[in-house]
Amino acid sequence: KRIISTEVTKEDKQIEKTLRPQFLNEYIGQEKIRKNLKIYIDAAKLRKESLDHVLFYGPPGLGKTTLCNIIANEMGTNLKVTSGPAIEKPGDMAAILNNLNEGDVLFVDEIHRLNRQVEEVLYPAMEDFAIDIIIGKDAGARSIRLDLPRFTLVGATTRAGLLTAPLRDRFGVVQKLEFYTTEELKEIVKRSSIVLGVEIDESGAVEIARRSRGTPRLANRLLKRVRDFAQVKYNGVIDKKVADYALDTLDVDKLGLDNNDRMILLTIIEKFGGGPVGLNTLSAAIGEDAGTLEEVYEPYLLMNGLINRTPGGRVATENAYIHLGIEMKG
Ligand code: ADP
Repeated sequence: KRIISTEVTKEDKQIEKTLRPQFLNEYIGQEKIRKNLKIYIDAAKLRKESLDHVLFYGPPGLGKTTLCNIIANEMGTNLKVTSGPAIEKPGDMAAILNNLNEGDVLFVDEIHRLNRQVEEVLYPAMEDFAIDIIIGKDAGARSIRLDLPRFTLVGATTRAGLLTAPLRDRFGVVQKLEFYTTEELKEIVKRSSIVLGVEIDESGAVEIARRSRGTPRLANRLLKRVRDFAQVKYNGVIDKKVADYALDTLDVDKLGLDNNDRMILLTIIEKFGGGPVGLNTLSAAIGEDAGTLEEVYEPYLLMNGLINRTPGGRVATENAYIHLGIEMKG
């Protein structure tokens, strides 16, 4: 299992409860989103109305769930949490909606995974705060409309492109989360250290931030691992030396790449002369599913300018050669 995988692990869940910022002023980074949300929330509170429906999209671990929690806290309302794959039947969705109270926030994680029939229940719910229920069968069937309290739907997705247009259009607020800068991650690491009661200096926080792939979830996970090294091998204090030692031992390099990432780059360079090499050929060569390669591994390599996607296939860039310490031929 990759330590830098963006999936939520059991360990993440344990620390998540204590580390999650609860209010907007504790939330670090994503400046634009924070400013916008503050205005929308203040305005809704002034008018004593529910907040418009909000869609957050972007890679995993960047803070979508956290923002949803914050919205409920700032609005002073209840939060109900569910997810796309958890709701199988339209009736299940209708029941969830019917149980909401005025002003509640309903969080639907992985909203792109709702099936079409379930999604259709959401259309009138989001637009008119109502659900249409069919009573009776065949020729005798008729539809009655049930009113719902005014609620706020917050949707989160890592794959905005998979959302249908009718669903996307019903969100009044759509916000994209970006990868965090090293500076922002450093602040997150420092904040988390205080919450966890870990002593860390500036240089240690920077080093963990640098290797966290722009992702707070990873920053927190790496911090926890480095803390173990600091306690066992050093005097419990995290500085650059401890962070370097721990992260090198965990095979997370200076850019946050692990062995799998480096193997992909090495394969392009050594087996395919630096590329271009097609996605399927590359995936066969490294023994990894093409979809995983494209959606899990490549985004971070692309963002760091280590590979390019060209019409002919994937190409290793000069940065990749420099990073791996390999001389570029030709
Ligand atoms: P997502 O829902 O996008 O996958 P989460 O909201 O679960 O991501 O965030 C993962 C973890 O990262 C949270 O538990 C939280 O502790 C931390 N986190 C996310 N965003 C921030 C932030 N802006 N400031 C501080 N910590 C954050």
